[in-house]
Amino acid sequence: MNILIFSIFELLLKQTMEVLKNKKTLQDFIERQKEMGKKIGFAPTMGALHNGHLSLYEAARKENDLVISSIFVNPTQFNNAEDLEKYPRDTDRDISLLENSGLVDAVYLPQVEDIYPEKTESQHYDYDGLENEMEGKSRPGHFDGVGTVVEELFRQVKPNNAYFGEKDFQQLAIISKMVEKKQLPIKIIGVSIYRAENGLALSSRNQRLAEERKGDAKIIFETLIKVKEWFKNISVSEIKEKINEIFSNQENMELEYFLIADEDTLKEIDQKENENSYRAFIVVNVDGVRLIDNMHLD
Ligand code: AMP
Repeated sequence: MNILIFSIFELLLKQTMEVLKNKKTLQDFIERQKEMGKKIGFAPTMGALHNGHLSLYEAARKENDLVISSIFVNPTQFNNAEDLEKYPRDTDRDISLLENSGLVDAVYLPQVEDIYPEKTESQHYDYDGLENEMEGKSRPGHFDGVGTVVEELFRQVKPNNAYFGEKDFQQLAIISKMVEKKQLPIKIIGVSIYRAENGLALSSRNQRLAEERKGDAKIIFETLIKVKEWFKNISVSEIKEKINEIFSNQENMELEYFLIADEDTLKEIDQKENENSYRAFIVVNVDGVRLIDNMHLD
């Protein structure tokens, strides 16, 4: 009997997750939370949620009174119409996944006009050159789109802390730079890459891979582990030769780029200097699905 009363009490106490479907409902919600002095942790996403996203909320849960996520497939950061169209979307599934996780207090699902009240186009950003490296070269305009949506979401959600995955390491660097340059009162926190058991970095795009290809794609992680070792003993150009050889022997896979860059400037290096930190970055197309990964090098 006591247990039953306790469970009912617990159920009544348990807050249900707020689903905020437009800017107005978000603003009312944020105002109430700010009046109560709540510390807000925020993680923006494009949905098709997986455990990688949950790892951001877990980190946010530990350091904030309230965790908010957003789901918005941002049209301006896609430089390829087909990629935008094929991007996986299942909001109902995402909402129940978030509710069941118990990690998130509110999810914001803006409409396009909540983010882009006039034209659906990007602002231009200067990230001190970070935008010209790697993904900036492969995906022109991508980081203007990312900056535009994230800055607008920051202005609406007003978080104290915002969480971004190291899987998109350049994006994390770029958002940190934007916050610094615009002097936004937000702390940006990077969360390490969440991987499947075979090492494949979780990504919403993995949904488009056949199970067999997901198995094959573990070679990306295995290769990065090897790079970590090689980097101690052999030159960057020798490492690149080995990488080209590995991927030229892989059916259904096309290496788009592999490089080693300085972690702060993101500039590619061909030789290491002792006092700097480095990271290996790789992009591989597996059956037409673009997979990105990276790893810190000692
Ligand atoms: P997305 O929905 O792909 O735009 O990702 C939203 C956020 O989740 C970004 O900060 C990503 O870097 C992060 N994220 C995506 N996949 C992972 C992962 N496997 N591990 C950690 N963070 C991730």
